[in-house]
Amino acid sequence: MKLIDLHVHSTASDGSYSPEEVVRLAAARGLRAISLTDHDTIDGVAEAAAAGEALGVEVIPGVEISARFPGGSMHILGYFVDYHSGLLDARLAVLKKSRADRNPRIVAKLNALGAKITMEQVEKISGGGQVGRPHIARALLEHGYVRDIQEAFDRYLRNGGPAHVSKFRFPPDEAINMIREAQGIPVLSHPFTLGLGSAYALKNLLQDLKKLGLAGLEVYYPEHTPEQEARYLKLARELDLLITGGSDFHGANKPEVDLGQCPCQKNLTYPLVEALKAWRRQEYGLDEA
Ligand code: AMP
Ligand code: FE
Ligand code: FE
Ligand code: ZN
Repeated sequence: MKLIDLHVHSTASDGSYSPEEVVRLAAARGLRAISLTDHDTIDGVAEAAAAGEALGVEVIPGVEISARFPGGSMHILGYFVDYHSGLLDARLAVLKKSRADRNPRIVAKLNALGAKITMEQVEKISGGGQVGRPHIARALLEHGYVRDIQEAFDRYLRNGGPAHVSKFRFPPDEAINMIREAQGIPVLSHPFTLGLGSAYALKNLLQDLKKLGLAGLEVYYPEHTPEQEARYLKLARELDLLITGGSDFHGANKPEVDLGQCPCQKNLTYPLVEALKAWRRQEYGLDEA
């Protein structure tokens, strides 16, 4: 078996395992390759890559950038990004600052609503990486204001919820460009979260995004129904987009998902990585991915 997982979060964003722990788990599960795709940051990649060297797991440098998309949630994965040059880091710094400004405002809203949690508690839960809503949700849970993470989102933190504060997002073309500037491969994450009404609308959007430089579509994902998976696979083939997939592992912050264990795992095999590498070689004229 040459199983892989191309969508994984660590404490560098809102996962509960450190980058090294994620790679250890991947090794224990016998995965050949994973991509660390933290939200809006590549801060965990160097640690994961070093652990991957030591443990014999191929670590693909990655990122998952939240892009501006009214009415839904658009995430763009970047694979094989050059994380040494500083170029991508400089672009992502804008997003980090926006998050840092936003978190205390969410906490202040929660306090006004009677949920008395503090930024210190939230930062402790985050484990040192950037803070996001899942950490705030955990703080609400630990202090008895909600019964589970989902209730924290449903009652307070969901988009448009009473404690929600929006953060800066790059428009899709800029998110795609910054990944390409770093010689990465831009891939649209979990297309169902876009909230599009029809398969026709998704096809149109994918065509537009492809013109902007999108190279792939996340077809295999735990929350995709068999019908969605089949539709996304068909679209990827029709539009000549690379096919990717992963568990979106967040450790304890998304307990229903485990690393390398999703029902879609059987489709997540090494040839997907080989296709990514071949695309990158051709697109950027690189000798080795
Ligand atoms: P943030 O990046 O701080 O806006 O937090 C986004 C993360 O929160 C996502 O990656 C999910 O893990 C989680 N999340 C967002 N919306 C929901 C929701 N409605 N229910 C549960 N988790 C959510
Ligand atoms: Fe997340
Ligand atoms: Fe995502
Ligand atoms: Zn994700």
